[in-house]
Amino acid sequence: MAKRDFYDVLGVARDADEKALKSAYRKQAMKYHPDRNPDDAEAEAKFKEANEAYDTLKDPQKRAAYDRFGHAAFESGGFGGGGTGAHDFGSTMSDIFEEFFGMGGGGGRRSGGRERGADLRYNLDVTLEEAFNGKTVEIEVPTSVTCDTCSGSGAKPGTSPTTCRTCGGAGRVRAAQGFFTLERTCPTCQGRGQVISDPCTSCSGTGRKTQERTLSVNIPAGIEDGTRIRIAGEGEAGVRGGPSGDLYIFVSIRPHELFQRDGADLYCRVPISLTTAALGGQFDVPTVDGKTSRVKVPEGTQTGKQFRLRSKGMPIMRSTQMGDMYIQVTVETPTNLTRRQRELLAEFEKESSGETHPESAGFFSKVKDFIDNL
Ligand SMILES: [Zn+2]
Ligand SMILES: [Zn+2]
Repeated sequence: MAKRDFYDVLGVARDADEKALKSAYRKQAMKYHPDRNPDDAEAEAKFKEANEAYDTLKDPQKRAAYDRFGHAAFESGGFGGGGTGAHDFGSTMSDIFEEFFGMGGGGGRRSGGRERGADLRYNLDVTLEEAFNGKTVEIEVPTSVTCDTCSGSGAKPGTSPTTCRTCGGAGRVRAAQGFFTLERTCPTCQGRGQVISDPCTSCSGTGRKTQERTLSVNIPAGIEDGTRIRIAGEGEAGVRGGPSGDLYIFVSIRPHELFQRDGADLYCRVPISLTTAALGGQFDVPTVDGKTSRVKVPEGTQTGKQFRLRSKGMPIMRSTQMGDMYIQVTVETPTNLTRRQRELLAEFEKESSGETHPESAGFFSKVKDFIDNL
């Protein structure tokens, strides 16, 4: 089944602000909450759908990616992938329910205290040239890894955790409160179901340690500003044997001195002299591949005229094609004239007519008509 648009799911406009999103989400969540709709698979699906939509749209980064790429932004594998698909809905549920009821949503997410590690975000700046060529970068990621002394159990080697007596090992306690039956995390074992009486000294019983790791990341040629690269399993280690989170690399491309980028095309403004514009000529422009290209300027070129250099733009990802480069010329009015130059221009002026300046001639004749008709 095709995935529904997240804005349609929540029933909000595409420019809805945070408040509108939250209130739309609340409505849906209350309506389709499984506690209110027991054994209703359709309601459950709607509840999950609303959760996923809200989870994406409440995060400005994810929302921007969604606006740009749609659901494709979150398909796993490949570039720009990641995120919401794999995200279990525990996190959104618990923050929103904490807000509704003043207590955690709990849920069966933690079994035996296992918990998925957090996702990590790494911001990477690259130059336009690097984005053009593609490159492999080594990045240092501070992350928590499984403690090797206790293999992540948190218990001192040779000892083992004991079952929590408060919850009997379930990690959760239940309490009926009006309409809902609320489950919450066991306060004694914090949901682990087990208590460590003799903690591992190396990690103080957390089962994790912080470490800097070096990762090699391939930045593909043609990458765009704002792309997220997901590296599965390279986020923080899970708690007590839970799976690791993912690492997301957010790529920003630094502004370039000469070139502006629009998708795969590049734009460059070049000033040319009055004489080159009038008489014609040529100039060389640098291109992003480090070479130069020659641009021929025909006689009578005006400011704003655009020249296209085919395939001199950025690589188009997942293809062998290249974007184009556009050169926009601006005719520079000469300044700081010498006496001789003034004379020459004054002489030139005397020779000028409507033929030499058809655009001005046309404009001023329109002005004259306008005034005559007043
Ligand atoms: Zn340990
Ligand atoms: Zn417990």
